Parts: sequence; C-alpha cells; structure tokens
Amino acid sequence: MLTTVLTAFHHLFAELLDLVLPAVCAGCGGPGRLWCARCAALFAHPHWVAELPGVPPTVAAGDYTGPLRQALLAYKERGQHRLVEPLAQMLASAVLASDRAPPSCWLVPAPSRPAAARARGGDHMHALASVLAQLLARVPGARIGMSPALRMRSGVLDSVGLDAAARCANLRGRLVARLDQLPPRGVGVLLVDDVVTTGATLRTCVAALTAVGVPVLGAVTLCDATGAHRHPP
Ligand SMILES: [Zn+2]
Repeated sequence: MLTTVLTAFHHLFAELLDLVLPAVCAGCGGPGRLWCARCAALFAHPHWVAELPGVPPTVAAGDYTGPLRQALLAYKERGQHRLVEPLAQMLASAVLASDRAPPSCWLVPAPSRPAAARARGGDHMHALASVLAQLLARVPGARIGMSPALRMRSGVLDSVGLDAAARCANLRGRLVARLDQLPPRGVGVLLVDDVVTTGATLRTCVAALTAVGVPVLGAVTLCDATGAHRHPP
C-alpha cells in the first residue's frame, strides 16, 4: 500500500517537474531536472527528530545541511517559489514513510514573522502546507484540510543566534491561534515547519493550539537542525 502510494507520488512528481522546473539541480546547481542523483542520495532519508520537551512526534525529510539546506534557502530566501512543489513532495514522502498521517487531519503551517513574510513576497510555509495538503489528499480515504490557524504578532525577533530559552521568550504571547481559522472541533492537527532547531517554535505552536482545545497529533519538518540522535520511521 505504502509502496504503491509512494510510486504514484513519484510519477506525479515527475510530471510536475516537467512543467515547473528548470533543468538544474536545486541542491547544487549542477545538471539535473530536480535534484541530481548525488544530492538526491544525500537527503532522501526521512527520519524521526529526537524527542524534545513539549514537542509532538516530528518526522523530518532530511538534515539541515548540504543540498537540502540549499534548496530550502533558495525557496525561502531567494525567491525560488517554484521549489514549493518538490519540497512539498519531500514532506509528503516523509509523512507517508512515518505512517503518521491519520486519515483525517488538518495541516497547520508554523507561522512566519509578518515582516519576514512581507520581505519574501508571501508566507512560504503557508504555500508549502497548501501543496502538501493537496498531495496528501490524493491518498485513498484521506480527508486532509489545511488552515493558517496560527499567526505571529509583530514584535517577534529573527530567531537566528538565539538559544532555546531566548527563542521561547521571543515567541511567548506573540504566537497565537486564529480563532476564525481553527479546524472543525475534534479534528487533529499536523504541524508543518521548515527547520527544527531547538523545538521552540513547534512547542509554542502546540501550546497555542491546545489552549483553544485543538489537539496536535504530530509535526513534519523539512529539515532537522537539532544535531541530535535520530532514527528511521
Ligand atoms: Zn545536486
């Protein structure tokens, strides 16, 4: 079943790539329709992120290093919006490999700082979660929703260089649920993030959603930057 679904994704993925991507590797810039074989071999290994306090079970598409990091930065910071499709595909593969996707759940993207989203020409995680929801909804029997049910108020600093405690303090009271965007009552949430470093963002997302009665089932992230021990799904 899982193999069949993954194969179907692979074919869909290839068709999408023909439509949207230039013939260069998103990881290293060398020849390759999406990722060259060398880069693909480096990051096609979904794994569980090591447990972090207050963070739900989190599956990562790969580590925050090498070509995957380059591809994320190109998408997030350098305006390569077309990478949303292959990056969403990597997230879908991670979710399916983890067997963590319940037949019915809503995806909620980790919100960006308003100033950062404006500078990037939009909220990159919202776009990524939207495509991921479309991909997961193709799994037979799946009922997948997506909603930007969290937002960051202005005043949040860029977290680069902050330690775990400072990151939590930075987000406290500023990452909040949007009451008009919550999933239907009783439907669980799968959080979607780009990089997990200390877990502060995911922890704060969980706190904000559970405070308004929304259960969080788990999380999926593109990159694991914890540097901690991990294990395959
Ligand atoms: Zn490459």
